[in-house]
Amino acid sequence: MADACAVVSCHVEQPLDDRVWSAFSDLQASRPGGFEIAALTRPPDHETGESESLWLARARILAARGPFGLHTHWGGPAHARPTGGDPAGLVREQVAWLDERGLRPSLFAGGGWYMDADVAATLAELGVADCTATAFEPSYLEPGAARLTLAEPATLRIGEVSLRELPATHSLGMAARAAVSRLPAYVHVYFHDTDLLDARRRRALAWALRVIGRRRRRERLDRLHGGAELAFSAAASAP
Ligand SMILES: [Zn+2]
Repeated sequence: MADACAVVSCHVEQPLDDRVWSAFSDLQASRPGGFEIAALTRPPDHETGESESLWLARARILAARGPFGLHTHWGGPAHARPTGGDPAGLVREQVAWLDERGLRPSLFAGGGWYMDADVAATLAELGVADCTATAFEPSYLEPGAARLTLAEPATLRIGEVSLRELPATHSLGMAARAAVSRLPAYVHVYFHDTDLLDARRRRALAWALRVIGRRRRRERLDRLHGGAELAFSAAASAP
């Protein structure tokens, strides 16, 4: 069984939208429940003209406050999962792009919960921990869509390399419900920066994190260990 603790991460989807940015930046700075929230951030999209300089300025603020990670949207800002091409190649490219700018990510989350063996091996080679596995089944995915299922941290073996896997266990809504009922030993709450535009959801999240922060040891996502070894295929939904 995993060491009982709780971690929190945000998929930072729209850091260039001023309203979304202020909402997440304020929340991360306030450390709700005492948590250092990991920012898993989508890089700027050159094709849609997103500003690189503003993105870098904001990403550096997030990285100074807590764990910093990459959130790849393979199909552009509005389409998270890959539509073909070389998913692992884009991840390698984006990690190198961040690294060149002094923002080396320690964590990763695949857009739309997408993960395959090549992407996993690439992350393992780059020494980046993965947060794409989920303890729950995302409702919008087709049955058999490539993703990972895990309820606790693990060390995934892919051929010769191994990947530290730190699954998400609770969405914002799930966290608000679980905060006052049953909580597993390992809790990883994730949310989207865009969720915070809704004042009710923003308050629900801050409240849930305060309650969970009293019930579990608060940990930084980048400090978690991988746990027991497991073959990648044992956690993957697709061959
Ligand atoms: Zn996303």
